[in-house]
Amino acid sequence: MKLYNSLTRRRDDFVTHTPGICNMYTCGPTVYHFAHIGNLRSYIMEDVLEKYLRYTGLKVNRVMNITDVGHLSSDADTGEDKMLKGAKREHKSVMEIAKFYTDAFFADCEKLNIRRPDTVRPATGCIDDFIAMVETLLDKGYAYISGGNVYFDTSKLEEYYVFNKHDAEDLEVGVREGVEEDCAKKNKSDFVLWFTKSKFDDQELKWDSPWGIGYPGWHIECSAISLKYNGEYLDLHCGGIDNAFPHHTNEIAQSEACIGHKWCPHWFHVLHLNTSGGKMSKSSGEFLTVSLLEEKGYDPIVYRFFCLLSHYRKSLVFSYDALDNAAAAYKKLIEKIAALRADGDVIPEDFDRLKKLFTDALDNDLNTSLAITALYDVIKADVNGATKLALIADFDGVLSLSLLESAERISADKNNSLSNSAADENLQNEIEALIAERSAAKKEKNFARADEIRDGLAARGIILKDTKEGTVYEIKS
Ligand code: AMP
Ligand code: ZN
Repeated sequence: MKLYNSLTRRRDDFVTHTPGICNMYTCGPTVYHFAHIGNLRSYIMEDVLEKYLRYTGLKVNRVMNITDVGHLSSDADTGEDKMLKGAKREHKSVMEIAKFYTDAFFADCEKLNIRRPDTVRPATGCIDDFIAMVETLLDKGYAYISGGNVYFDTSKLEEYYVFNKHDAEDLEVGVREGVEEDCAKKNKSDFVLWFTKSKFDDQELKWDSPWGIGYPGWHIECSAISLKYNGEYLDLHCGGIDNAFPHHTNEIAQSEACIGHKWCPHWFHVLHLNTSGGKMSKSSGEFLTVSLLEEKGYDPIVYRFFCLLSHYRKSLVFSYDALDNAAAAYKKLIEKIAALRADGDVIPEDFDRLKKLFTDALDNDLNTSLAITALYDVIKADVNGATKLALIADFDGVLSLSLLESAERISADKNNSLSNSAADENLQNEIEALIAERSAAKKEKNFARADEIRDGLAARGIILKDTKEGTVYEIKS
C-alpha cells in the first residue's frame, strides 16, 4: 500500500517493523467538550485506514489516549488547561466533565461505526509513566529544570522541525498568534514536560513528583502511552493536521531522545473539515456535533459517507447542501443494494476481479472516493447477485457504511407497509360484510342481531353511523 507520509512528504510504501504486525497510535480527544464533526472526520478516516490494514492481513494494535489533563488553551504551553476551562463553564469537577465527554465521544464513534481502539488510556491514569519518562530525559541530558517547570531542551537535537523543514505551507502550524513568551525557557522551541509553576494556579488535578506537586505537559502523554502500549517501534502515528506542529514534533523529539533510536517512520495526517467561515474548532464553541445532525434528521452514517467521498488529504468544506447530496446518494445506493437477490453461487473470478478495483483504490493513498466508485462498479457489473452481495459485504468490512443492514431495513419497511395495506383491505372487507349483515337483520326485524353487530364493532373502535346514503363507519385511533 502506498500511503502519504508527512515525514518524507512522499507516498511511501507502508511497511511495518515486524512483518504482519502494525503498531498504530492515534491522538485521542481532549474531553472538555463534545467532539465536533471536524474531529470526527479525522477519526473516521483513521478508522478506515485501520480497517483496511486489518483487511490486508495485518494484525493491528491500535492505541489511543484520552486527553484529560495538560492540554492548555494554546498548544504552545501557555494559557489555562482546557479541562479546567470546561469544568468552570459547566460548574462541575474536571473528572466529571472528563467522564461525561469521554462517554459522549465513544457514543458518537459508535453511531459512526468507528471501532474502539484496542487500548484506550486517559492521561490521568498514566501519571507514573510520564514521571518516569521525564526522569529518563533529565538523566540523558535532554531536559532541564527552570522556574519550577521541567522543559525539553530542543537545542540538544540535530533536527527538531521534522515536519515543516521542507515546506511550511504544507503543514498548518498549530501555534496560536499572540502567545506570550515563557522567560524560563532556554530556547524558543523548548516545551514543558512537567509543570509545577503556572500563571493558572487553580489547576484542579495535581500530582506529587520529584520536581514538586504539579501536572504533565500535553505532549508527554502520547509519547509515554504509545511507548508503553505499542513498544519502542511504532509503525504508524495518526492525527489531524493541526497536531503535526508542535504536538507531533514534540512527541518525536522526546520519544527518540528517550529510546535512543528512530521511533515512528510513518505519519498520517488528516486535513481539516472547515465551514464556509473557516476551520471548525472546539475552543470557539461554535461547532456541529453528531447529535445536532441527528436532531436535524440525518442518519450519522450519512456523515461517514460524506467524509469517504473526499480524500483525507484535501480540506473538506461542510455545508448542509453537500450533506443533503450525500444523503440522497446514500439512499439511492441502499435502494440498489436492497434490490439485489442472492441468486447462484459466488463466482471467485468475478469476485477477485471486482475486489481488485477496491484494493487498488485504497492501496493508492487510501483513496476512499475511488473505493466507493468500485462499490458502484460492483452494483452495475454483469455478474450474479450472490457475487455482488458477497463483494458488498466484503468492502463494507472496511467502509463500515452499514450497507447490508440499511438495505435489509428498507426491505423490511417495504414488506411491513405492504402487509399493513393488506391488513387494511381485509378489515375493510370485514366491516362492509358486517354492515350488509346488519342491514339485512334490520329488514328482518332482528334488532338484537343488528345491535350485536353495531356494539361488537364499537368495542373495536369502529363506529357505525346510519345516514340517508346508507351506513358509513369511522375508525377511532
Ligand atoms: P482535540 O480533541 O482538539 O484534541 O482534537 C482531536 C482530533 O481532531 C485531533 O486529531 C485533531 O487534530 C483533530 N481535529 C481538530 N480539528 C479538526 C478539524 N476541523 N477537522 C479535522 N480534524 C480536526
Ligand atoms: Zn498526541
